[in-house]
Amino acid sequence: MDITRLSAIEIRERLKKKEISSREIVEAHFNRIEEVEDEINAFITLNKEEALKIADKIDNRVKNGQDLGLLAGIPIGVKDNIITYGTRTTCGSKMLENFIPPYESTVVERIKNADGVILGKVNMDEFAMGSSTETSYFGITKNPIDLERVPGGSSGGSIAAVKANEVALALGSDTGGSIRQPASYCGVVGIKPTYGLVSRYGLISVANSLDQIGVVGRDVLDAALMLGVIAGYDIKDSTSMDMGNINYLEKLSEDIKGMKVAVPKEYFSLEMDSRVKDGVAKAIKLFETMGAEIDEISLPNTEYGLATYYIVSTAEISSNLARFDGIRYGYRAKDYETLDELYMNTRREAFGEEVKRRIMAGTYSLSRGHAEEYYKKALKVRTLIKDDFDKAFEKYDIILSPTTPDLPFKPGEKMDDPLDMYKSDLFTVPVNLAGVCALSIPCGYVEGLPVGLQIIGDRFKEANILKAAYAFERHSSLGGEI
Ligand code: GLN
Repeated sequence: MDITRLSAIEIRERLKKKEISSREIVEAHFNRIEEVEDEINAFITLNKEEALKIADKIDNRVKNGQDLGLLAGIPIGVKDNIITYGTRTTCGSKMLENFIPPYESTVVERIKNADGVILGKVNMDEFAMGSSTETSYFGITKNPIDLERVPGGSSGGSIAAVKANEVALALGSDTGGSIRQPASYCGVVGIKPTYGLVSRYGLISVANSLDQIGVVGRDVLDAALMLGVIAGYDIKDSTSMDMGNINYLEKLSEDIKGMKVAVPKEYFSLEMDSRVKDGVAKAIKLFETMGAEIDEISLPNTEYGLATYYIVSTAEISSNLARFDGIRYGYRAKDYETLDELYMNTRREAFGEEVKRRIMAGTYSLSRGHAEEYYKKALKVRTLIKDDFDKAFEKYDIILSPTTPDLPFKPGEKMDDPLDMYKSDLFTVPVNLAGVCALSIPCGYVEGLPVGLQIIGDRFKEANILKAAYAFERHSSLGGEI
């Protein structure tokens, strides 16, 4: 038996039945990591010693017949913009190359309390800005399905590590699509929860009003399991919501007959690869076969999503990243004479090109004389986009769309054309602007490359999108190992 091919839930069950030990699970995954990392480069930092220590503790508990947490023994990767106490957290940037956090993020605390075993920190676009994991200071990550292609981004390391069986589950973050877009490119399940469902305490902010931590798994059950563990109110995050006890696994197998499904026509009239369009159209047909009621609807402000996103997000980026000044955190330039020079040289030397581009754009749209014209206008359009979704969810349970307009591309293909790169988030950014939830699930392959279906749900209605995804996965038999 190859342990690394088991689902997260199978790993936990076999551990409980004493068929495998936690140490065996960790060792098998580290062997796998050694085998493939040279090619894939999903990890920035590995934590073998600590993982083995935790494994031994879990094994002791199994031996003594003590209770085990929901994630017992499951190997997990954590995106490197999520704070881990005592373990280097880099955000994929030279700026934080040697940053060791003095506290723990809430999500990691919850994973540890549930007996999950964190194997290391995974690669990402610098400060989560990007759609290909090519902007990381620690080198590019490759797509495990086709090593000649990017895994998508910015959570490319999280997704590649899960797809390549280096871990069973991973945490990512999604500001405009960074979990769903790479999940689509690598053929796994990625969930962006409702804004406020998961604590952001310890997530290094890109754009606070859009960021959410989410999960990646090889199938819906695994992803739903971890979402249940990390979701829930946290007093340390003033934007987190108390939604009571949540068990997503309980309602997963409910029938979706009669489910009201909306298909927004605007999502199909925007520019996209026709092979993606066909794949998603087939998936929508399958929902019909399963007894869902499908209607075409209009989300009229869809075409303004990308422009709105880039104004709102860069504005927040410019203010969030002001804290990296060479004094409080991370890198400090060696050569400077004045305080201003210290700031400037530090930021010039330690931020990459895309990060600088966004700080400049955001500073511009927030500056006096431009804020009315750009930032404030974008906030108004954001409300219109949110209203579009609110209206749709008065009548419908879920919305279906492609996750991305294209298939995974090759490294270098879009790096010189930022606008082209931004377009791969065309269908994902409106979800973050509206604060609703969504996931991406594989819905077919074109010439060996995966196509992702995006399932969008109303605020805090994760149960709906998970139920729909689970039904789809079983019907299409595309879930898990494809
Ligand atoms: N690709 C998008 C961007 O570059 C989304 C990033 C994200 O979700 N963190 O902004």
